[in-house]
Amino acid sequence: MARVAVVTGGTRGIGRAISVALKDAGYVVAANYGHDDKAATQFSTETGILVFKFDVSDFAASAEGVKAIEAALGPVEVLVNNAGITRDATMHRMSFEHWNAVIQTNLSSCFNMSRAVIEGMRDRRFGRIVNIGSINGQAGQYGQVNYAAAKSGIHGFTKALAQEGAGRGITVNAVAPGYVDTEMVRAVPKDVLEKIVARIPVGRLGKAEDIARTVLFLVADDADFITGSTLSVNGGQHMY
Ligand code: NDP
Repeated sequence: MARVAVVTGGTRGIGRAISVALKDAGYVVAANYGHDDKAATQFSTETGILVFKFDVSDFAASAEGVKAIEAALGPVEVLVNNAGITRDATMHRMSFEHWNAVIQTNLSSCFNMSRAVIEGMRDRRFGRIVNIGSINGQAGQYGQVNYAAAKSGIHGFTKALAQEGAGRGITVNAVAPGYVDTEMVRAVPKDVLEKIVARIPVGRLGKAEDIARTVLFLVADDADFITGSTLSVNGGQHMY
């Protein structure tokens, strides 16, 4: 039986590439999104992948969303926590709303979604969870105290949950992308982006597909000895 995979924020950008790669590899994919109905409908029409609208920053909505996915497709065996936003500002200009929106959407979402699937995974003694972190969670970034804190939190979340899942066939890993050519990065001013690309040894921005192939590797059945790890996919921009 094909495994059921959920990708949060799976209709656009990196998530879209992950959803498509999983489908092409034979998974039954549910792509979640939060706001953009037009993009989601277009994505679903183009790919044939079912979409599920709910806000992953909301605990109750995430539980309901997972219920709806399981009713439609069956038990969730693969979860990719990819949904994320930026609300950049330096600390002295950052509002509580900017802080909170990023923490809830980027970090609490990992709890909300993992909590909704973990009991089933434990019962079935199989699960794959991949959390999308960021180079800026590893290295920090000017104007991104909220984002760096959330992404750094994801890396700790991953290592702790990996320890809990290890005896139950559940692996939990993180992928830390560098700068990837999506709408999120296209929002960065051109001159800043040029400076960023100049610091990437491989000499280009990442492609969403670069991240998708990494996720595919980590969720494979025979990747069962890889857990608690963070795979950096950043063109050599940050090595540690
Ligand atoms: P995009 O802005 O292109 O896409 C974000 C996705 O998340 C959309 O599908 C969006 O759907 C969804 N989303 C946002 N908020 C919510 C919510 N509350 N509930 C459900 N879905 C939501 O981002 P990217 O593809 O660039 O980024 C994907 C992930 O990769 C993020 O976690 C990001 O932090 C991370 N990342 C990206 C990098 C980059 O360079 N692009 C670098 C490092 C990490 P909708 O609009 O419909 O809500």
